[in-house]
Amino acid sequence: MTGANAGTPETSAVAPSKSPLETPVTGSNGTACGLNRPAAIILFGSPGSGKGTQSKFLVQWLGIPQISTGDMLREHIRKSDAIGLSIQDRMRAGSLVPDELVNQLVFERIAQPDCARGFILDGYPRTPAQAQEMVRLLSARCAEEVVIHLIVDYNVIISRISGRRVCPQCGTLYNAASRPPKVEGICDLDGTALVIRDDDREEVVRERLEQYERQTRPLIEFFRATGDRLMEVDASRERPDAVFERIQSALRHVLGQDFLRQVISGQAIPGQGVPGQNGKDQVRG
Ligand code: AMP
Repeated sequence: MTGANAGTPETSAVAPSKSPLETPVTGSNGTACGLNRPAAIILFGSPGSGKGTQSKFLVQWLGIPQISTGDMLREHIRKSDAIGLSIQDRMRAGSLVPDELVNQLVFERIAQPDCARGFILDGYPRTPAQAQEMVRLLSARCAEEVVIHLIVDYNVIISRISGRRVCPQCGTLYNAASRPPKVEGICDLDGTALVIRDDDREEVVRERLEQYERQTRPLIEFFRATGDRLMEVDASRERPDAVFERIQSALRHVLGQDFLRQVISGQAIPGQGVPGQNGKDQVRG
């Protein structure tokens, strides 16, 4: 993918020279891709960088599913199935689980019908082996991919994670400083008592951050080298909705309004038109 540097001072992006709608290509499996290609939005950043929150905004806007490998793995642990039992010690310690397992989970998930228009990868890839597999999977599906790198200062990350609480029932994330529940300790949506995730405990957080520095951050160079569209977004200072607005405008620029409309198509709310048509997109939900 070729292109010129573009973007606001706080959002830099490598843009394609043509909109995805104008560039029919062939997938790695040799099949012609046609024009209806899924959008693959890869949210990349350290634990606590806001990937989960921005994923949820993107789900509301584009109507495509979030694929969080962390959530999928936690679900296996919750069910205590064979996968869950095999990974629970590693996850509790803040270590990564084996590449083959996450690659297989992602492979199966993106083959589901709800991913036909696109999907958001949250927390994948995390290692070079996963990144290579991702390139293969996305190319085989003729996906239009964009990597969004959420850059957050280390101290901000520590304070965010230590204030983080999650609803064990519906998975909604809260934060004492930036997104407190209406009633302390209680989920706004279903009244369940909020909990601290096992792997948000301080010693585990340190291990997760170390794993990120060692195994995951270097993937930025991989994305650059393979010519992926990479958007760097400063997510330290602003509120999540302001960060999301910058992500929206960068995505419009990189993928093009027409392509995004195609992804959203069929998702318009009656009487409100398609988000993005009037130059100002709306987060739905
Ligand atoms: P997350 O919710 O994305 O922060 O992930 C929580 C934990 O799940 C991580 O600390 C890892 O133990 C595991 N995990 C999630 N995604 C991956 C991945 N792509 N590769 C390996 N382990 C993962």
